[in-house]
Amino acid sequence: MEEIIIDTIRTERVFLPEADAGQVELSILRLDRIHPLISGNKWFKLRLYLEEARKLGKKRIITFGGAWSNHILATAAACQLNNFECTGIIRGEKPANLSVILQSALKMGMQLEFISREDYANNKIPPVHDRDDCYFIPQGGYGILGAKGAAGILDHCARENFTNICCAAGTGTMTAGLMNAALASQRVCSISVLKNNHALENDTRQLLDNKEQSADFIHDFHFGGYAKYDSSLIRFMNDLFQRTTIPTDFVYTGKLCYAVSRLCKDNFFKTGSRILIIHSGGLSGNASLKKGTLIF
Ligand SMILES: *Cc1c(COP(=O)(O)O)cnc(C)c1O
Repeated sequence: MEEIIIDTIRTERVFLPEADAGQVELSILRLDRIHPLISGNKWFKLRLYLEEARKLGKKRIITFGGAWSNHILATAAACQLNNFECTGIIRGEKPANLSVILQSALKMGMQLEFISREDYANNKIPPVHDRDDCYFIPQGGYGILGAKGAAGILDHCARENFTNICCAAGTGTMTAGLMNAALASQRVCSISVLKNNHALENDTRQLLDNKEQSADFIHDFHFGGYAKYDSSLIRFMNDLFQRTTIPTDFVYTGKLCYAVSRLCKDNFFKTGSRILIIHSGGLSGNASLKKGTLIF
C-alpha cells in the first residue's frame, strides 16, 4: 500500500475562457495528488477520527456507506495503512457482483456487512463484534472531528491569496471545515452533488464554529442526482483535461468545475475575484464508467 504524501499537494492556476469572460482568476488545490485511493478530502476528514480511535485503544473501525462510496474505500485504505481492523456496513443487499470500490475495499482487508436499506436507515448494526473494541465513524465522515480535519485543507495553500473558496458537497463536512478555516474576508461556495438535498445548509451549520456564518450553497449542478451524469458533463471533463491536464471525477469534482465555469460565465463572482477550487479527489470512482468515456 502506498503512503499518503501530503507534500504533493499544490495550487495550480487554471485558465478557462469562462473565467476570462467573468474577469476572475481561477486556481485549484490539488488534494487528489496525495494518494490514489484515500483521495483528497477523505484523508483530511478521517485523520482525527483515527487519531481518537488510537487514543481510546480501539482495534477496529466501523463505518457506513453505499456500494460506490469513496468514504468506504478511503476508510479501508486508511485502516490498512494505520493498522486498524475495519468493517464497512454497506447499504442494501449483497449484489451478485461487487462494485469496483467494494472489491478494492475487500482486498485491503475491510470486512463487508450488507444490511437492508431499512435497517441502514434505522442505524441497525449487525451484532458482529465486541463493541468495546470498535470505533464508529459516521457515514461520509460527517461530524465535528471530520470538519476539524477538513479545516486543515487550507493549511496547504496560501489562503490569503483568495477571495472565494469553491468545493463540492455531499454531507457538507468539508464545506463546514473550509468555512471554519476561511478568513473573515473569504466566502465559501458549496456545490451540492445530490438532488434537492436542502438539508445540506443545516447539516453544515451544525458543524460550524460560528453558527451565524453564511456561505453560498448551490443546488443547480447535480446532473440528475448523486453519481448521475450526462454527455455535457463528460464533454466538459474531457475538455478541461485537454486544456489543463487536470483530471476530475464525474461524481464530485467534475460537477464542481462545471459549476464554477458556469458561475463565472454568469457573472456570479465579482470582477477581480480570486477563486480557489478544492480538488477533493475521488478519481477512483471513474472506474465505474465505460472504458473510453473519459480521455484520461
Ligand atoms: C466525499 C467527497 C466529497 C464530499 O465531501 P463532504 O464532506 O461529504 O461534503 C467531495 N469530493 C470528493 C471527491 C469526495 O470523495
